[in-house]
Order: sequence, then structure tokens, then C-alpha cells
Amino acid sequence: MAQKTLDPEYMPQLKMTQPVAQFGPFPSWYSKEGEHKIVSIDPMGHIPVEAFGKYLDKGFDIRPTIAVTKAHIDLPECKEAIREGRLAPDGAIMTQDGQSHITKVAMEPVWYLPGIAQRFEVTEQNLRESLFRETNMMYPELITRPDLKVFLPPVGGCTVYIWGDPKKIPDPDIELTVRVHDECNGSDVFGSDICTCRPYLTHAIEESIRTAQNGGTGVVIYYRKEGRALGEVTKYLVYNMRKRQEGGDRAEEYFNCTQHVAGVTDSRFQAIMPDPLHWLGITKIHKLISMSNMKYDAITASGIEVVERVPIPPELVPKDAAVEITAKVFEGYEGGGVYKVDEAMMSKVQGRDYDYRKTDIENAAAAGREALQGSGVAAKKQKV
Ligand SMILES: [Zn+2]
Repeated sequence: MAQKTLDPEYMPQLKMTQPVAQFGPFPSWYSKEGEHKIVSIDPMGHIPVEAFGKYLDKGFDIRPTIAVTKAHIDLPECKEAIREGRLAPDGAIMTQDGQSHITKVAMEPVWYLPGIAQRFEVTEQNLRESLFRETNMMYPELITRPDLKVFLPPVGGCTVYIWGDPKKIPDPDIELTVRVHDECNGSDVFGSDICTCRPYLTHAIEESIRTAQNGGTGVVIYYRKEGRALGEVTKYLVYNMRKRQEGGDRAEEYFNCTQHVAGVTDSRFQAIMPDPLHWLGITKIHKLISMSNMKYDAITASGIEVVERVPIPPELVPKDAAVEITAKVFEGYEGGGVYKVDEAMMSKVQGRDYDYRKTDIENAAAAGREALQGSGVAAKKQKV
């Protein structure tokens, strides 16, 4: 906008952008007796023409917040699963060369403030004031326009990946595998071995493919909640503290380190996490690929039945991620009989030593100071 490359008056051309698969409408899309199953997305966000046609005709600028498309995805772990005989290509769900066919749904958050307040068990006024304050007063309408009930928060949304026929998802008699995954760029994309994120994600994809091949569906929801929603900078600061602390990186200090750096052990909220599940019309999950007690509690509290919880297979846990999995199971994550953690293990399970020697850190700091002096930045600072 500042560079004037996008006309602020531009109206998007949405012809031929419609969803490639049909979803809903499901009973969960509508409020019942003051209870809202969906408060954080617009259930009609993918069908603006059908839902808001008369307003579009009047010239209102109404844009989709949900888009549905298809893709072929290609993951090295799926190819490995074929080589090792865990997956078999069938030409439909999975091709001979290991590609799988999916339907995917991108969702942006659309918050219905009275419903969000209800979920967080705060008053709408309290919610509005907090949002206003914590966004540096960027949205004065939160306070001045209580009649505007919807807010588009400047936070990340999610993407839903579906294996199998999406029409089968709402049928409780057809097997459904689900993982609700929170973004971890370091592991998901770049393969860091300090956590279980990517291996657990690819395990969920493998399970989803298998379920789809057996006539069911698999759903993986990928949320942009990097570093327990604290962000990657905080996450790396915590990594440094974990590796540098006296006694080294160990399970008993795993959550404490995040608490010391961020003031909380986790800033994700699961209260609105199940909304996309209700958008998909899910009432029963046969296999939940998650060990998180917080996610399980939120999903079941929202009225969805969960039959089985699947922990990450131990052989998939990366070497340096033993600290994480031990700490999480001790704190209440579901180990499913595969992981058993007692107090003694909390001090025993150790992570890799990154060799952050004191002399190295001091040398690096000294070199940094020297470089700054050379650049004149430090000198300028002193003058001020
Ligand atoms: Zn991770």
C-alpha cells in the first residue's frame, strides 16, 4: 500500500476460486441455546457467494476466510515407509512413487467476541479491553463499537490436510484419524532433533494414509502456534538456557526454563482449538495422534468422542528429544503404556551438551564489542 503497488480499492476476482470439495452445512455450524460450537472461524468463510450473496450484490466487500483446494504431497518419510513395508501404494490414495493425494483447507481466524469470551470464561468487556491493550491500542473499535461483534485478530490461522473422501468425515461409523499439530519450524521444516514435532507429524500422515486406504479418512490440522505460541525467538532463548544451565539439559528443568524466560510454560490456548474439527462436522475420532492432555481435554469437552490416543512410536523419538518427551509425560501427557516416567528419570534423562563453554561465550561477547567499536555504533551510542 505504501509503495502504491496495491490499489486499496481493488476488489478481488473470486470467480472460479470456489472450494473443490463440499463441507457442511453441519448442525455444529449453528448456535444452539446460547452454545456456540464455532467461535473462532467463520463457518461460511469458504462460500461467501452462497452465504452473503445479497450483500455482495449491494457492493459490500466480503472476502473468503477459508479456501479449499487439492494437492499431491511428497514426503521422504512416506517413501521410506513404502521401502520398509509399512505403507503400500494403491494408485488412489498413494501413488507408486510415494505421493499421496489430499484435500486441504486454509483457515484464517474470525473471532466472534461474545463466543470467545464465553470460552475463556471472561466477560466480553474484559476480553475487548485486553485485546485493545495488548495490541497497543491498534483497534479502538474494540472499545468504541461494542455493536461490532466480530474481530479479525492479527494471529496465524491453520491448514487442514485430509486423506480420503472428506464427505466421510462426519460419519461416526467410519474410521477417522486426527492429529492437531502446532507449528515447529525448526523440526517440521529443518529437521532439528531437539523435539519430536516432525517425526510425530509424519507418523500422523502415515496413519492418515493407512486409515484412508482402509476406507476411512485422516485429518491433520496444522496450527501456526510456533514455540507454544511464544514464538521462535523465545524458543531459542529457552534452548540456550536449557543447554547452559548448571547440571545440563534435563527433563526436570524442561518446563522451568520456559517459565523463567517467558513467565509461562505454554501460551497456547486450547479452548478454541476444536473449532475446525466442528467445522468439519466431526463427532467421533477413532484415533487421536496426540499425547497432549490439554488437547484431549479440549476436544472431548467440546463434545467430540475420542476412542484411542496414539503416542509417538519410541523409535521415532530423535536422540536429543528424550528430555522433552520425558518432561511432558511426567507433567501429564498421555504415554499410552509406551512411555513410563518416574521422578528419578526426571533428573537422569539428559540432553546433548552443546559445549557452550564459558570462555567461548566471553570471547564471542568481547569480539562483538570490538566489532561494534570498529563500526562506530558504540561510539555514537556513548555520545548520546
Ligand atoms: Zn518442535
